[in-house]
Parts: sequence; C-alpha cells; structure tokens
Amino acid sequence: MIKALITYRLLALLVAVCLLISGCSVNPVTGEQEISWIDEEWERKTGQQFFGVQQQAGGGLYKNDPDLSLYVQSVGQRIVPHSRRSTLPYEFVVLNDSTPNAWALPGGKIAVNRGLLLALTNEAELAAVLAHEIVHADARHSAQSQELGSIISLGQVLASELLSNAGYSHQAIQQGIAYGGLLGQTRYGRSRELEADLYGMKYMSAAGYDPSAAVSLQKTFVALSKDSKSNSFSRLFASHPPSQERVNTNQRTSKNLPRSGELGEQRYHQELLQLQKIQPAFVFSDQAKVAISDKKYRQAIKLADQAIAIAPSESEFYEVKGAAQIKLDRPSEALASLNKAVALNNHYYSPILRRGMLQFDLKAFTLAEKDLLASVKLAPSQIAFLTLADIAQQRDNCPAAKRYYRQALNASQHNRASINQRLSELNQRC
Ligand SMILES: [Zn+2]
Repeated sequence: MIKALITYRLLALLVAVCLLISGCSVNPVTGEQEISWIDEEWERKTGQQFFGVQQQAGGGLYKNDPDLSLYVQSVGQRIVPHSRRSTLPYEFVVLNDSTPNAWALPGGKIAVNRGLLLALTNEAELAAVLAHEIVHADARHSAQSQELGSIISLGQVLASELLSNAGYSHQAIQQGIAYGGLLGQTRYGRSRELEADLYGMKYMSAAGYDPSAAVSLQKTFVALSKDSKSNSFSRLFASHPPSQERVNTNQRTSKNLPRSGELGEQRYHQELLQLQKIQPAFVFSDQAKVAISDKKYRQAIKLADQAIAIAPSESEFYEVKGAAQIKLDRPSEALASLNKAVALNNHYYSPILRRGMLQFDLKAFTLAEKDLLASVKLAPSQIAFLTLADIAQQRDNCPAAKRYYRQALNASQHNRASINQRLSELNQRC
C-alpha cells in the first residue's frame, strides 16, 4: 500500500514536472513517449548559434573543392524529405580535417570531415553516414543528452583553447575537440546508435539507396577500430562506437528493406577524384604538423613545400609552413606564408589569428589588432582577447583593455586568476 502510494506520488510528481517543463513528448522518429527538455525552437536556435564556431573548431570549411561540398549537400538533401521532421533547417558541410568523422547539431546542422569521405567506397555509404546523422537530429538525440548542459558550456569555451597550447595549434584544437568540447561529439549511447542506424537505413532506402551500404560501412568501421594504427578514428568511435552488434543488426534491417536501391559507386568515384588526387598533399601537411610538435621545424617546412607542390591553392599548407618559420625565427618569411594562407582562405580563423600574433610580436599593433578582431569574429579565442588587451594598454586605452580582459574571461575557464589580477590592477589605476 505504502509502496503503491509512493509510486503514485512519484508518478504525480513526474507528471507535474513534465507539465512544468512542458517536457513530456513523443520522439518524432520512433513515436515513443519520452521526457524532452527542449522544444523545436531551442533546437533551431542552438544549431544556428553553434554551427559556425564548431565548424571553425573542426578545421573550417573545406574550400578547395566547392563541387565536392555541393555533392555532399545534394546527397543529404535527397534523404531529408524522407525524415520525420523534414522541415528542420538541415545543412550539410564538408570540413577540412583528415580525421574520419561526422557529427550533427540539434536542428539538423550536419558536418562530414574530408577524411571520412576518403574512407567511403560509394554514394550509398555516404547516404548511410548522413542518414544516421539526420536521425540524431530528427529524433533530438543530442538535445536529450544529459550531458548537454556541460557540452554547451564546453562548446563556448572550446574556441578559446584553440591556440593556447604550444606546438602546431591544430593539435591543441584536436585535443579540445577530443576533450568533449564539440557539441556534435555527444556520446549517444548504444540505444541511440541503434535507433540512428535503424531509421537511417529506412530513410536512405526510401531515398532510393541500397541499405546494404550501412552494413559495409559499419564493417569498415569495425575493421578500422581494431587497427591500432588508426588512432585518428578514435573520435568517430567515441561519438558513434562501431560494434559487431551494429553490423549484425544492420544486416537484419537490410534484409527487411527493398534492395532495389542504388549504390552509386561510379558517381562517388567521379566526385571524389579531385580530393583523391590531392590527398597525398594532406598526408604531407599532417606529417608537417607532427614535425612541428616534435620541434623538427626544417623538416616541417620541407613537408609543407611538398604539399604546396601538389596543391598550391590549399591555404592550410602555407599556414603550416608559416607556423614552422615562426618557430625558426624567420618572421618575414613567416609573414609571407601567412599572407598567402589568409589570401587563399579568409573564412578560417586560424591563419588570421596566427598572423595577428606575429604582427603583435613585430610590434605592428594596428595590423595585429585588425587580424585579431577578424579572428574573434570567427572563433572567440582567449589568446586573441588577451593580445587585444595588451595592444589597448600599449595605447593607454584603459576602458578597451578592461573590456578585452572581460571578454577573455568569458572566452575560457583557463587563466582566470591571472586575468582577474590584471583586471583589478587596471581597475585601481583607471
Ligand atoms: Zn551516431
């Protein structure tokens, strides 16, 4: 009786809580009842708010092959009408990162890394990746994650960690992401992964793709996750862990779906030609970043030059070269490299921030300020705000210095004590 009473009270409480948070709702994909802490407006806003900075944190947009980005968009948009909430503002982008990874933000903002595209063998496998991510957004998986609050606050500070470490900063960026800062890196858990696989296969099949590609894709991932050398896969596996269970389940799902869909092997091969052609350049560039971390700066420059010889229009290679030249204390050469990097891509914060820091070291404060302000618009980093505060102090502009210190505090949880110290010193003086 008492037990029944407690159960009843618990139920009543749950209902009350549900009403308060307007949270008891139906999973849009599965139709099951569940508690939801958010509404669609929140999803749209969150996706919109974080998509830009998460792209920056993920290497920026892959600009070298606009046709490839259009192709990925077209495959994504072919699946969208078959999702439950096809009116979500879906967007698909390709990021300039060698790690085979893909992620989704609430509200249907989906990113695929250049490195993942190279691991796939046909268009249906790409459709399987995108459909899986579409379900994560469609079924509000990340929005339901209990970790969400902390993920969002980490997301806010992520960009500020980007350049705070030594070495080639992309490593710092990668660490920042691995550490959980990326909103799209939500760990969904086993049941959400299976749900995304199941409905993803239904969506891709309805869009005219052969769902067996979801099986071959999962097999590839399982094989790669077993390969100790493929450390770069670890982030993909952290957010979407592959397993034999998923292979087997996908196999069963596939049998119950029409097999008339296409694989699109030829078309995929055709669309990937340019990326495949310049892929060796990215291998050199990734090796150059490792060389910088190992303090082998001359070797890094050689590797960057090899990358440039293959793909002279890729901004990243000049940035890597410039980073090594800074370490070798060759500022004028570094400036030339970074000028080239920014000229080729002024939508990615990293070369702009790097050039701003170099200009500051060269005491070219006006040029430094211009770059730093441009970089924080793309990704608000603590180091940029601190350097802007230094410039303001050089000019005896006390109010501006205080403002930048406050923005530096907002940008990251790091270095709070020393920044607060500087701020209170300024408050005493002016
Ligand atoms: Zn997943």
